[in-house]
Amino acid sequence: MAEADIDDLIEIIEKEGNVEEIPKVIPMMPVRDVVVFTDMLLPLFVGREKSIKAIEECVEFDRYVFLSVQKDSEMEKPGPSDVYDIGTIARVQKMIKMPDGRIKALVQGISKAKLIEFVQKRSFFKVRVETIFDVEPDSIDIEIEALMRNVKENSEKLLALKGEFSGDVGDLLSHIDSPGKLADLVASNLNLKVEDAQGLLETTDAVERLTRVNDLLARELDLSTVQAKIQTHVKDEISKNQRDYYLREQVKAIHRELGESDDKIAEIAEFKQKIKKCKLPEACEKEALKQLTRLEQMHFDSSEASVVRTYLDCIVELPWSKTTKDFLDIKKAQEVLDQNHYGLDKAKERILEYLSVRKLNPNKKGQIICFVGPPGVGKTSLGRAIAKAMKRKFHRVSLGGIRDEAEIRGHRRTYIGAMPGRILQGLRQCGTNNPVFMLDEIDKLGNDFRGDPSSALLEALDPEQNSEFSDHYLNMPFDLSGVLFVLTANMADTIPSALLDRMELIHLTGYTRQEKVVIAKQHLLPRKIKDNGLTRRAINFSPNAIESIVSEYTLEAGLRELERKLDSVCRKIARQIAEGQKGRFAVTCQNLTRYLGPPQYINEMDQEESQVGLATGLAWTEVGGEHLYIETSLFPGKGELLLTGQIGEVMQESARAALTYTKANQEELGIDKEAFDSNDIHIHVPAGAIPKDGPSAGIAIATALVSAFTGKKVNNKVGMTGEISLRGRVLPIGGLKEKSLGALRAGIKTVIIPEKNKKDLHDIPKSVKSKLTFICVKDVREVLDLALEAE
Ligand code: ADP
Repeated sequence: MAEADIDDLIEIIEKEGNVEEIPKVIPMMPVRDVVVFTDMLLPLFVGREKSIKAIEECVEFDRYVFLSVQKDSEMEKPGPSDVYDIGTIARVQKMIKMPDGRIKALVQGISKAKLIEFVQKRSFFKVRVETIFDVEPDSIDIEIEALMRNVKENSEKLLALKGEFSGDVGDLLSHIDSPGKLADLVASNLNLKVEDAQGLLETTDAVERLTRVNDLLARELDLSTVQAKIQTHVKDEISKNQRDYYLREQVKAIHRELGESDDKIAEIAEFKQKIKKCKLPEACEKEALKQLTRLEQMHFDSSEASVVRTYLDCIVELPWSKTTKDFLDIKKAQEVLDQNHYGLDKAKERILEYLSVRKLNPNKKGQIICFVGPPGVGKTSLGRAIAKAMKRKFHRVSLGGIRDEAEIRGHRRTYIGAMPGRILQGLRQCGTNNPVFMLDEIDKLGNDFRGDPSSALLEALDPEQNSEFSDHYLNMPFDLSGVLFVLTANMADTIPSALLDRMELIHLTGYTRQEKVVIAKQHLLPRKIKDNGLTRRAINFSPNAIESIVSEYTLEAGLRELERKLDSVCRKIARQIAEGQKGRFAVTCQNLTRYLGPPQYINEMDQEESQVGLATGLAWTEVGGEHLYIETSLFPGKGELLLTGQIGEVMQESARAALTYTKANQEELGIDKEAFDSNDIHIHVPAGAIPKDGPSAGIAIATALVSAFTGKKVNNKVGMTGEISLRGRVLPIGGLKEKSLGALRAGIKTVIIPEKNKKDLHDIPKSVKSKLTFICVKDVREVLDLALEAE
């Protein structure tokens, strides 16, 4: 700096007894982001070329520099209008040149000053300044005192919050008695925004400045309190995570120490993923995850762990949310049904109605369908066809002989080897929760001390309650409402009544010979040919041969035996071809014995002639209708009645009633009264190994008895069915369709039926009606007139 007029250029400031002489024109350095307050000591890093020059210049002379904050801190080369007018005169206490060319300068604020003019702008700024003096209050009144105390306390608090408080600071604060100094000291330590700090700097009134500092301090204190809170929370969170991680690592180490591998960890993770994928109802998922946690805590190979593992396997394999989309094209469904089944019009019609309703109202709670009929009439295959038509999966479970409720509903998990019930097992196998589920032989369900399976079944089948079916093993509700249950039974009588109540029976009664021949041709034979690896060209089945198989090798209502016989023929031909024989194999009536041996059932009636004491009854059995011979013999004795042939109680009573009727009407019937006392009577129903019972043999027994006593033959082409009353009335019977099919098979021409069964003739197929003569009767006399031949 050039030497100048001393009076003009030197400002004198009294500072704590010291006198500072500061030139009025000094170098100026713009600073960013920091306001230097009076008495504040602060290091500055100087990098800009102009600033470096300014510092170097001032250090060379009086060490004074005017520091003024630039308005935009981003600005690289601020001009005169880019800095605030009010700044601070500072003294450079120390200066160090850094290796990178920058300068580190330790500056101390000396006095507030106002920039009057720029004296030099090139190279570095030089400015004329004028000191500004603070206005301190004349005396410290109580209000100022309180304000000062407040500021001091809050400062201590703030420092304490930041963990920077020390006794020295406390001392320092307590010794300050000037509001202006206190304001500057606190402000310089507050990390204020530049605008706020500059505002303070420009406030010359000490009390006002302190008030503003107090406000800023309070705000800072609030901020810091919240910040501290957040930080504590974060710290807690981190330390909890760290703790958990540490513990988990320890558990892993313990598992490893116990010989448990990473497999377990992988298994647990896999289970967790599978459980999430299952989309279980919320409560069930919670339970599953609970069990998973239990598994996690168990020894990998313990038996307990394997129980839990099996349980979890069961849960994740159940189709909780897997559903197939229903295909409900009624025309196509009809095609599928017709393709697979000949006849069965009623059953097909009912199925199509069911599908139609389902199409129009998918939410209708379905009726349960039950097919009733003898074996082999197509109950199961109809069920399969329904599934095929709707494009659903099919599953079949046989309930024959099931006595234990647990078979349906599962065992509780406390039992060793416990399993879910058959219904859930079935669904697990299907993999969807809306299959066609067939429950076979519902009429053979047992019921004893081990529980009543029918009540468990009821819960599964009843559309009102099956959306929350509870299996003992699973121990959580499973929704069965999407499942289409189809039941089958051989007879409706033994179906538990509670179940019967809820289902719709569709009767399939068995096939006539003609129907069987058509089914064999259209369905069974092509299938058997294919199954046995043959081609249609390799085998030529004559229609007569099929008819022979039906009539001479099978005697059944259904088609099973017929299917087996056809299979047997195809198998034998397959063997011949496999052995190298060539050509087309013809199966005819003549060579049928080669394949199937001699005929097993003679087409004609077993009894070729009419005989005395032998009547033909018609019986209904589970496997369809059958004819039943009733033999009666008289031999000298005392009038005793002997019944043989495993006749059940009902039939024995029928026999007694028939005998009483005969005795009571002996005169009209032309029987000598003596005959009853001097003869023992033996009634026998052949095929004694098969138990027989039922209330429909009465008139046949009466006819056989009267025939035996009168010596008149019973026409062997007449079959009869009907119960007898003591007065000789003929009472109605059931199962007429099956019985007439049985009669037809047995070669009977005339069938005597009770008058009250006339209405049932409507259900008899035309082909049967055309071959049989049905005669309805009210009284046994009519039966005797029709059946007994004149002598
Ligand atoms: P069920 O379940 O009544 O004992 P199935 O359904 O097992 O009888 O039927 C036995 C066999 O007879 C099956 O191979 C089936 O395809 C066949 N079958 C039954 N009824 C018919 C029919 N109306 N048309 C074609 N095949 C039939």
